[in-house]
Amino acid sequence: MKIFISADMEGISGVATNQQLKTNSEYQRFRKLMTADVNAAIEGAFEGGATEVVVADGHGNMSNILVEDLDARARLVSGNNRVMCQLEGLDGTFDAIMFVGHHGREAGSERTVISHTLAGICVNEIKINGKVVGETEMNALVAGSFHVPAIFISGDDAYVKEVHETLPDVKAAVTKRAVDRFAAELIHPEAAQKEIREKAEEAVKDTKSYKPLRTEGPVTFDMELKGPQQAMMTTTLPTVTLTGPRSIRFTCDDMVTAYKHMWGCVIIAMTAANGVLGSVNA
Ligand SMILES: [Zn+2]
Repeated sequence: MKIFISADMEGISGVATNQQLKTNSEYQRFRKLMTADVNAAIEGAFEGGATEVVVADGHGNMSNILVEDLDARARLVSGNNRVMCQLEGLDGTFDAIMFVGHHGREAGSERTVISHTLAGICVNEIKINGKVVGETEMNALVAGSFHVPAIFISGDDAYVKEVHETLPDVKAAVTKRAVDRFAAELIHPEAAQKEIREKAEEAVKDTKSYKPLRTEGPVTFDMELKGPQQAMMTTTLPTVTLTGPRSIRFTCDDMVTAYKHMWGCVIIAMTAANGVLGSVNA
């Protein structure tokens, strides 16, 4: 049985503020904790019957997990030039997807820790076919288009509640109680990792009982960006239309194409935050 793990950092045990995830001395502590939470999920997956585990590091520069400390049975997708963003490496050969250390969406719950949708610098809200989604729900839809069900999540309690609205049966390990966007009531990482291991094992054992999250037919994304300069620059793509000063829309024939298109728009919008050539050393 083949399991894909999408790993993020905000929902990792011990994380309470954004400063801990920037490249400073604090960050090195949290890379270790991220690796340990992911290891707990890998161990649970193998205990539950997995024979192959691929982990995609999906936070920030997408190279946070310490490969030398990672469970040697797993493979790691690391580095950030990826057409499939947080899902690079996923395809229809996988039996299930798990989300470790993920977080609530931008403008979702009032208290989910370090909430945002993909890139805080540019995205206010993403809707897929009219429904507001966070990263987990969006990734679950993409996995669903490959007939791969989402079976497990770990993160703060508010994030878990948010995801359960769309994926009520997904097994969840609560790594902390969210107090505010930049505060949490923590439990010891070993306690969180014990729960991750146990719930991941249960989820993998039950994989056959989960249904993939799917939408049929064309896929329309509505994206509200932070600034009009970001929305405007995405219209360099002929498929994008402005629906408001900061809002864009595009439609694709299938979810995977739409996901790549969304990521392309985010890349453009991030670059346009301060002028597209502002940070280029050409
Ligand atoms: Zn992240």
